Amino acid sequence: KTRMGTVMPKAVLVRSTGGPEVLELTDVEPKEPGPGQLLVAVAAAGVNYIDTYHRSGLYPLELPLALGLEGAGTVTAVGPDVTGFAVGDRVAWHESPGSYAEQVLVAAEQAVPVPEGVDDETAAATMLQGLTAHYLVTSTYPIHAGDTVLVHAAAGGVGQLLVQLAKSRGARVIATVSTAAKEELARAAGADEVIRYSEVDFAPEVRRLTDGVGVNAVYDGVGKDTFDGGLASLKPRGFMVLYGGASGPVPPVDPQRLNAAGSVYLTRPRLGAYVATREELEWRAGELFAAVADGSLKVAVGARYPLAEARKAHEDLEARRTTAKLLLIP
Ligand code: NDP
Repeated sequence: KTRMGTVMPKAVLVRSTGGPEVLELTDVEPKEPGPGQLLVAVAAAGVNYIDTYHRSGLYPLELPLALGLEGAGTVTAVGPDVTGFAVGDRVAWHESPGSYAEQVLVAAEQAVPVPEGVDDETAAATMLQGLTAHYLVTSTYPIHAGDTVLVHAAAGGVGQLLVQLAKSRGARVIATVSTAAKEELARAAGADEVIRYSEVDFAPEVRRLTDGVGVNAVYDGVGKDTFDGGLASLKPRGFMVLYGGASGPVPPVDPQRLNAAGSVYLTRPRLGAYVATREELEWRAGELFAAVADGSLKVAVGARYPLAEARKAHEDLEARRTTAKLLLIP
């Protein structure tokens, strides 16, 4: 479609919050990069669980909302005051609102150059979930060789990366998943033990698998349904790393419960706090891309959808039908 001779780029908008049906692919005004910004032609946009919270209004944002945070693509224009990037560069990003689109403005300070050995789809798939898995195992609870950790939803986007990175740091990994197909993926990612938490009560099973000892850390992106069992699975002085709530938010916690669980620690981290400086972002992204390029980290794409099917991507994600990374391809 053209207006005044210009091609109108497409983007996925939310005009009122709600279920996946509120996602609407529409024509938007072409963008121009302002100071410090890059205009990027999106090759692949990442779908993340947080996008469903933005869409539903669980995390309230101003409407109409251009959805999506993550992607990879090619720089088509460079704003004033930008150094270090040029038209034609391939970049990836994890926090640019409106990434479910043909073009998006990316702040140069959060754009990461994509190395040659990494294709655009893999780059998009590595950013938000990869940076998350990286900070969780290196900084939130830094895994030591010989630790045993519990990773929930291990066939998911963050989950498969967490299992791999935890193994590379020398942990024994106990994973949870809901189906046999997901169990295979968790094992392929390196999980030592896999529990189908949809069928068995995982906390007693974790105790059994650890000879009654419990785990050093629980990485929990499932939230409401797994939090209590996770507390019961920890060693004394273990770490409950609650990083999400795919099953719903965890209700308020009485600190006394941390005492009763064995002087355990509870943290509720977010990615932004762990890529707080350009240096930190470059360090984490650099390690991830190097591991992707040398084959030691496998970043799998579970499904690709055209932009027009963003609704289906959200439906599948929320219905637990997906594995690994979901991408929207403009
Ligand atoms: P996933 O690919 O992991 O998808 C969610 C998975 O959660 C499902 O596949 C499912 O796996 C499991 N799950 C369990 N119960 C439910 C339920 N009731 N409804 C839906 N899913 C359920 O998504 P992401 O990798 O994108 O995100 C995982 C979690 O990490 C989310 O909570 C997200 O918000 C959080 N996150 C937090 C970040 C942070 O910095 N704090 C950054 C990035 C993500 P199964 O079928 O095996 O149970």
